[in-house]
Amino acid sequence: MYLGCHVNFGSEQLLGSTKQAISYGANAFMFYTGAPQNTIRKSLNDELTLEALKMMKENNILLQNIICHAPYIINLANKKDPSKWEFSINFLRNEINRCEQMQVKYIVVHPGSAVEISKEEGLSNISEALNLIVKEDDKCMILLETMAGKGTECGSSLEEIKDILDKVNFDNIGVCLDSCHLNDAGYDMTKFDEFLNEFDEIIGINKIKCVHVNDSKNEIDTHKDRHANIGYGTLGFENILNIIYNERLKDIPKILETPYVGKDIDDKSRDYAPYLFEIKMIKEKRFNKNLIKDINEYYNKK
Ligand code: FE
Ligand code: FE
Ligand code: ZN
Repeated sequence: MYLGCHVNFGSEQLLGSTKQAISYGANAFMFYTGAPQNTIRKSLNDELTLEALKMMKENNILLQNIICHAPYIINLANKKDPSKWEFSINFLRNEINRCEQMQVKYIVVHPGSAVEISKEEGLSNISEALNLIVKEDDKCMILLETMAGKGTECGSSLEEIKDILDKVNFDNIGVCLDSCHLNDAGYDMTKFDEFLNEFDEIIGINKIKCVHVNDSKNEIDTHKDRHANIGYGTLGFENILNIIYNERLKDIPKILETPYVGKDIDDKSRDYAPYLFEIKMIKEKRFNKNLIKDINEYYNKK
């Protein structure tokens, strides 16, 4: 099983991410190369990258299980302001180059938002952008994430993802599932095998290269996108285990993007990463109903 979580990139870059992932007991991880909400990026330090790659090897972290995430302000759907659209295209192209420089194989991208334009237009703008970004011999592959359908978000149904992929001239574009987004978009995650059948019919199951495993704070089909800690949301622990341990996705990395926690589940201070404890309970297949208390005790002692 390849299980990990979101980690920081920070001043030590990929080496920092690797160290953090190992400290959580993860053998997969995902990072932003800078702040997720902006596009300011420092140049890469190849020495740190080499050290990171060595550490990954020593800790059995495979290259295909480390994932980059593009900043979420990138919007490939909207061409109304051509300079912004072109900026998104150039930024993403540079981000792919940066990934290749670090030997990172996958970059997750939110397809985009169709602000003040029709969904159809948004979807074809995304395909057009991808055709300008991707090159046939790229060693890093873009993965389109399935979205919750908040506001004018594109890519919240399998049909929309298929529509984008159909108009792209390249095969080397994949899909990243997000269990919270799928639930919020209206897919029943309590019937995950049926969902995979549907995915296979519409898109092809071999397109799935990464799964974001998150519980959801919202009921099915609410189009909200609010992640919950594992077992503390509407999906529940057993359904999440069924996703993570699904035989058909056994070689695919599962990445937790669950919220940091404070003193209790609703505390907004969000001081502590839950990943060490969530990974533990997933590996043991045993729900920890004292998750928040255990996390607080652990980090307060440190
Ligand atoms: Fe995402
Ligand atoms: Fe996600
Ligand atoms: Zn989300």
